Amino acid sequence: MDFGLGERSERLRAETRAFLDEVLTEELLQECHRSGVNHHPRFSKAVSERGWLALGWPIELGGQGRSPLELLAHNEELQRRNAPTYGIGTTMMVAQVIALLGEPGLKELIIPRALAAEIVIALGFTEPENGSDAAAAATRAVRDGDGWTITGSKMFTTNAHIADYVFLLARTDPEAPKHRGLTTFLVPMNQPGVEIQAVRTLSGERTNITFYNDVRVGDDLRIGEVDGGWKVMGAALAREHSGGFVGEQQRLLTDLLAWAQETTGPDGRHRIEDPAVTERIGRIRTEIEVSLLLQRRGAWLGSEGLEVRGKGSMAKLFSTERLERQAAAVLELTGPDALRSRDEPTALRDGGFEYAVRHAKGTTIYAGTSEIQRDIIAQHALGLPRPT
Ligand SMILES: Cc1cc2nc3c(=O)[nH]c(=O)nc-3n(C[C@H](O)[C@H](O)[C@H](O)COP(=O)(O)OP(=O)(O)OC[C@H]3O[C@@H](n4cnc5c(N)ncnc54)[C@H](O)[C@@H]3O)c2cc1C
Repeated sequence: MDFGLGERSERLRAETRAFLDEVLTEELLQECHRSGVNHHPRFSKAVSERGWLALGWPIELGGQGRSPLELLAHNEELQRRNAPTYGIGTTMMVAQVIALLGEPGLKELIIPRALAAEIVIALGFTEPENGSDAAAAATRAVRDGDGWTITGSKMFTTNAHIADYVFLLARTDPEAPKHRGLTTFLVPMNQPGVEIQAVRTLSGERTNITFYNDVRVGDDLRIGEVDGGWKVMGAALAREHSGGFVGEQQRLLTDLLAWAQETTGPDGRHRIEDPAVTERIGRIRTEIEVSLLLQRRGAWLGSEGLEVRGKGSMAKLFSTERLERQAAAVLELTGPDALRSRDEPTALRDGGFEYAVRHAKGTTIYAGTSEIQRDIIAQHALGLPRPT
C-alpha cells in the first residue's frame, strides 16, 4: 500500500513551492491581511499565467488535465502558505459548473475571462434566514420580458465587493416543493439595485450582506434549466464539501516547532525540552497524519472514479475540528505572549498563533458546518436516512 501522491504530484508540489517563494511576497500577504480579503489580483494573475487556474480541467477546455492527486499536492502547498485563493476557488468552481451545464454563449462570455483571472465570481447561496438549508432560499426571481427581476438578500457573500458576478440561487416557483422551484443565475454586481454592506468576522476576514432590489438579469445569464437550480447546486457543492484543512494544521505545527526551538522557559531550557510541549507536538503531528490520509483517500477515490461523498466530509470535519482544538492547545502552551496579533512588532510568530485560534472557528462553519458534515457521513458512509 502506497500512501504517497506519486512522482508527478511531487514534481508539481516542488514547482508550486518555487512559485510561491517567488510570488507570495510578505507585502502581498500583508495587503490581504489588512483588507481581510482572501483574494489578490496580482497573485491570481500570476497563477493564471502559470496555467494553474484550471489544473484539473481537460486540456481542450483550457486546463492541464491533471489528476486529483496532483491537484491535492498543489492545494496542500497553497494552503500551507496561506495563499489568497478564496476568490480563485469560487470563480473557478462556478466557471466549471458553467463549462458543464451552461449554454454556449454563457461559456464564451465567462470561461476565457475566468481562465485569464480577469473576473471574480462570488457565491450567493446563504441568506439571512437560511444557510445550511440552502434549498430554502427565499430570494425571488420573477420572469420579466426576456429576462428576470431579482428581489431578496444574501448573507456572507464573501468577495461580493470585488466581484464582477454573484452566482445566485433564487426561487422561481414558490408553489413547487422547495428543491424543485429554484434556478441559478450569474448576476452582474455593477448595476442599479445591487447593494453591498461589509460584514467583518472573527478571523478578520471581510464578507458581506448583499441586497437585490428589483435587479434585472438577462435570461442568457441563467445557468441550467428554469427550476433546475438544485441540480446546478449539486455540481457546485460536490466540490465545496470535499476539502480538508491540513495545510493550516501544518502551518500551526511549523510555527509551534520554531517557537519551541527558539524560546527558553523560566528554567533557561529550551521549550522543546519540556515534556508538556513535546506531548502536544506529538499529538498534533499524529492528527495531521490522520487528516492528511483522510484527504488523500478522498483524492484517490476521485482519481479512481469511485464514490467520494461522505469521505470528503470526514476529511473536512476531522481536519477543522482538530485545527480548532490544536490552536486552543497551542495558545495554552505559549501563554499570554501568543495573544499579540500580526501588526504588533513583538507578536509571537508574526501573530500566527492568535490568528489560528480566530480563524479555526470559521473553518468549522463554511463549506458546510460540522453538524451538516456529520449528517452527510451518516447518510453516505452508513446508509442512514436523511434527517427531516
Ligand atoms: C467567513 C464566512 C464566509 C462565508 N462565505 C460564504 C460565501 O461566500 N457564500 C455563501 O453563500 N455562504 C458563505 N458562508 C456561509 C456559510 O456557508 C454558512 O454560514 C453555513 O452554511 C451555515 O449557515 P448559517 O450560518 O445560516 O447557519 P444555520 O444553517 O442557521 O445553522 C445554525 C446552526 O444549526 C446547525 N444546523 C443547521 N442545520 C442542521 C441540521 N440539519 N442538522 C444539524 N444541525 C444543523 C448548524 O450546524 C449551526 O450550528 C460563509 C460563512 C462564513 C462564516
